[in-house]
Amino acid sequence: MQGAPGGGVGPGLSPVDRWTLLVFSFILAAALGQMNFTGDQVLRVLAKNEKQLSLLRDLEGLKPQKVDFWRGPARPSLPVDMRVPFSELKDVKAYLGSHGLAYSVMIKDIQVLLDEEREAMAKSRRLERSTSSFSYASYHTLEEIYSWIDNFVAEHSDIVSKIRIGHSFENRSIVVLKFSTGGPQRRAIWIDTGIHSREWITHATGIWTAKKIVTEYGKDRTLTDLLNAMDIFMEIVTNPDGFAFTHSMNRLWRKNKSTRPGIFCIGVDLNRNWKSGFGGNGSNNNPCSETYRGPSPQSEPEVAAIVDFITSHGNIKALISIHSYSQMLMYPYGRSPEPVPNQKELMWPAGSLSTGPMTMASSSPSPSSSGTRGAMASCCRPPRSSPRPRRRGWRFGPSWNTP
Ligand SMILES: [Zn+2]
Repeated sequence: MQGAPGGGVGPGLSPVDRWTLLVFSFILAAALGQMNFTGDQVLRVLAKNEKQLSLLRDLEGLKPQKVDFWRGPARPSLPVDMRVPFSELKDVKAYLGSHGLAYSVMIKDIQVLLDEEREAMAKSRRLERSTSSFSYASYHTLEEIYSWIDNFVAEHSDIVSKIRIGHSFENRSIVVLKFSTGGPQRRAIWIDTGIHSREWITHATGIWTAKKIVTEYGKDRTLTDLLNAMDIFMEIVTNPDGFAFTHSMNRLWRKNKSTRPGIFCIGVDLNRNWKSGFGGNGSNNNPCSETYRGPSPQSEPEVAAIVDFITSHGNIKALISIHSYSQMLMYPYGRSPEPVPNQKELMWPAGSLSTGPMTMASSSPSPSSSGTRGAMASCCRPPRSSPRPRRRGWRFGPSWNTP
C-alpha cells in the first residue's frame, strides 16, 4: 500500500495542531453519527490446502455479517484477507487457531487509518479551496466529483461529453463520460469504477484516467490512435447511493442502498446482480450478506442502466471494471473452469500491464464471481491512504494503483 501524498498531517503542523486536528475529526465524525471501527482488525490468512480454504468459507456462514472478506478464499496460493469486528476477534482467532490456520494481523486498528484518511481529505480540501484547484491525489465526495465532471466536460467539450444513463435507487443521476473524436456509434470501450462504493481508490483512478485521456490525446501515439478509431465511455460513480453513504455514515459500505418491503437489510451487491451466472457460487441469497445478489438479475436500477446503455449502443467491444483492493487482472469466466474462446487475447493486456506486483487470475474458477460480468472477485479495499496515481508513463487501460 502506498502512503498518501502529503498524507497524514503536513510537516508544517506542530504536535499540538496535529492533536487538535485529530480530536476535531473525531468529534466531527461522532457528531455526524458515522460508524466507528475502533479495534476492528484485518487478518491475513494463508490456507495451505483446499480443506483449509473450505474452513475459511465456512467462517462466513458461521459469522454472517461479521467477517467481511476483503480478499475471499480463492485458492491455496493466494492470501485471504478479512476484516473482523473487535467484538468477534477473540472468537475468530480461536477458530483459526483450532483449525491450524496461520494468520497475521495486517491492520491492527482500522479506525486509526480511517481517521488518518479523513484528516488527509480535510487538508486537501482546504488546499483546493485556497488554490481553486482540483487535487487528483485526493479523495472526493459525490458532489465534488459531479461538480468536477461538469467542469471537466465544459473545459474539454471538443472531446468529452456527459450522458445521463439513468437514476439510482435513491434517485441520484447516473452519468457517463463519453470520449470521442467523432462519428456515430463507433466501436467503443466501457470502463466503470466504484461499483463497490467503499473502493474509493477506483473513483480516484477513474478521475485521474479521464484527465489523462484528454491531456495525452495528440501526444501519446497509442491513445491517439485508439481515440481516432474508437470511443471510450467511463462511468466514474457506478454506485452513487452507496458512495454517498460511505461519506456520510459508513465508510465501509459496499452495496447499493435499495430496500424492499419485508426485508430488513439494505442493499444489493451490484457486481452480483448481472445476468451472467446469476445466483451461483460466490453470491449470496441472504439480503444481509455483503454479496447479496438481489431478487433477480438486473433488478437494481444502477445495473439495469448500464445493461440498457450497452445493449442499445450495440458496438461496445471491451468492458473493464475497476476494483480494489489487490493487484489482479481478472477476466472471464470467473464462474467456470472452462476457458473462454479468446483466452489468449485476454491474456495480452496482462503481459503489457504487468509492471508491478500483480497476480494473474486466469479462468480458474473463483468462488466469488457468479453474477459478475467476468471474474470480479469479492473485493474490497483497506481504507488506508489517499490515492497516488502512477505518474510514470501511460498505458491504455486501468492504472494499477495500489489501494
Ligand atoms: Zn469491488
